[in-house]
Amino acid sequence: MSFFDIFYPTKCILCGKITNDKGICESCGDQLNGAAALSHRIITVGKLEIPCYSLYEYKNATVKKLVVYLKKHNNKKIYEYLAQKFCCIIQKDLNQFNNACVTFVPRTKSSLQTNGFDQAELLAKETAKALKSASFQKLLRRKSHTSEQKFLSRQEREKNAKNMVTLRSKNALPKSVILMDDVITTGSTAKACVNELVQNGTENIVCLFISETALR
Ligand SMILES: [Zn+2]
Repeated sequence: MSFFDIFYPTKCILCGKITNDKGICESCGDQLNGAAALSHRIITVGKLEIPCYSLYEYKNATVKKLVVYLKKHNNKKIYEYLAQKFCCIIQKDLNQFNNACVTFVPRTKSSLQTNGFDQAELLAKETAKALKSASFQKLLRRKSHTSEQKFLSRQEREKNAKNMVTLRSKNALPKSVILMDDVITTGSTAKACVNELVQNGTENIVCLFISETALR
């Protein structure tokens, strides 16, 4: 323990207890591991079947706390913690994406203005770094008229999601893309992003999320 640690001990971001770990204590880490999503889902976009992997089940209280925390805090340690978890998934199940371009589902303008940063962007950046041979690019941006998905019903989400994103530039897109976001609910936002990417030249996509939830 260093001098600095004695006077400014690290507190677990989830329970507040003093911890020697990287921002998440052992007990909260165990609770997150216990909420691991056991299978991945598939979203279909046209003829394509896109695998979607999540680290955790959103219904777990500790997972919910983590997702809420990330919206408000730009804490590098926590993004590094999660990036390592995503690396494990890629190295175990998705080796073909080792050299892919990592990008993210962009926030709405209003959400960016409220929080000052995009948690999915930070997640994608850190995951690209952790993968070592992957790259990071901002490929998509939100169109200004779309509203937040979380306040909408399933039907409204589908409608709102169509045409919600567009490419940031006219440069050729990478062939393989890892698309990241914090939560997947119906998958309609992810679908809109996948659609935009495949229509413009991307061939292989996998989606990675911190957590997944069933729509109420
Ligand atoms: Zn804790």
